Amino acid sequence: MTISIPTQQQAAVVEDPGENFKIVLRHDIQVGEPGPEEILVQLTCTGLCGSEVRAVSAWAAYNPVIGHEGVGRVVKAGSNVSSSLLGQRVGVKWLYSACMECSICKRGFFHHCPKQLNTSRHVPGTLQQYVVADARFVTKIPENLSDEIAAPILCAGLTMAGALAHLDQELQPGDWIAISGSGGGLGHIGVQIAARVKKLRVIAIDSGSEKRKISIDSGAEVFIDFKTEDVAAHVLELTGEGAHATIVVPGNKEAFQMAPSLVRNLATIVCVGLPKNQMDIPISATLSAARGLTIKGSSVGTEEQLTELLQLAVKGIITPEIEVFEFAETPRLIQQLTKDGIKGRAVVKIPMDQ
Ligand SMILES: [Zn+2]
Ligand SMILES: [Zn+2]
Repeated sequence: MTISIPTQQQAAVVEDPGENFKIVLRHDIQVGEPGPEEILVQLTCTGLCGSEVRAVSAWAAYNPVIGHEGVGRVVKAGSNVSSSLLGQRVGVKWLYSACMECSICKRGFFHHCPKQLNTSRHVPGTLQQYVVADARFVTKIPENLSDEIAAPILCAGLTMAGALAHLDQELQPGDWIAISGSGGGLGHIGVQIAARVKKLRVIAIDSGSEKRKISIDSGAEVFIDFKTEDVAAHVLELTGEGAHATIVVPGNKEAFQMAPSLVRNLATIVCVGLPKNQMDIPISATLSAARGLTIKGSSVGTEEQLTELLQLAVKGIITPEIEVFEFAETPRLIQQLTKDGIKGRAVVKIPMDQ
């Protein structure tokens, strides 16, 4: 099999990150060359993650080529990589690599390695035709799962599987969980895992009829519109004492502020949303102590969780709500993401031609 790989390619590039950022579609971006442990992947599609808002808004330093939910085929392998990977379908995700030597890596939590490198942050992301990935950290995509469905599982799905796994020791089937941001790319998959896999009773919190529908379709027992209802009062009425746990998915202060009012004493609050780095969690230390609350941070998840989730998707138990768009629509879609206007997950097709 000989594949001709061009030297230049199409990519969506972030220019002037900040308030007036632009996404420019270019045809003159250099195709990367895989190092000894790396592979080159020709992408067919990529999901657009809500956390791209951080990159385009310049909340931290990112690569100008963003995107970290890419699916494609391996077209070139580095010298230390088995050639059996050539032609395989793989997922390229947020975790580009980890040190594999620190105490966190030794416990198997590569995604919390302090020395990790991330796709779209330290190395170019998946809004391009060819991406270089570390062969040790890509994910094989099951044959009977489409590229477009697999893409959002790589970050959105994994993030929610990881967040819910933090609650495995604390929650029983039938317990109440409140998920804020339930109608977005992450939230709705979280509702599905919580309701369909963990058998929890899900209180979905978001706003608007579209997000209500996607939350209820995903298995939520109740939907509360935070713009028109008193969320805490409604949760209390439903649960008697408050939910057993909550996951905060949106990256804004209001969602974090609301969290303690949704849960009963001894509950756990899992923090998933990524607001600006300088925003602290607005939670009373005294109340946290008196009520015995646990606050946990969670970012993506383990490879085992991802493999399990992809199998759940093959079986149709987890069904990401996606909308597939042409590559040319990327600039508009990312603008829309910054205004919180996307329900479910937007996936863009990557052009195969030059
Ligand atoms: Zn992401
Ligand atoms: Zn490490």
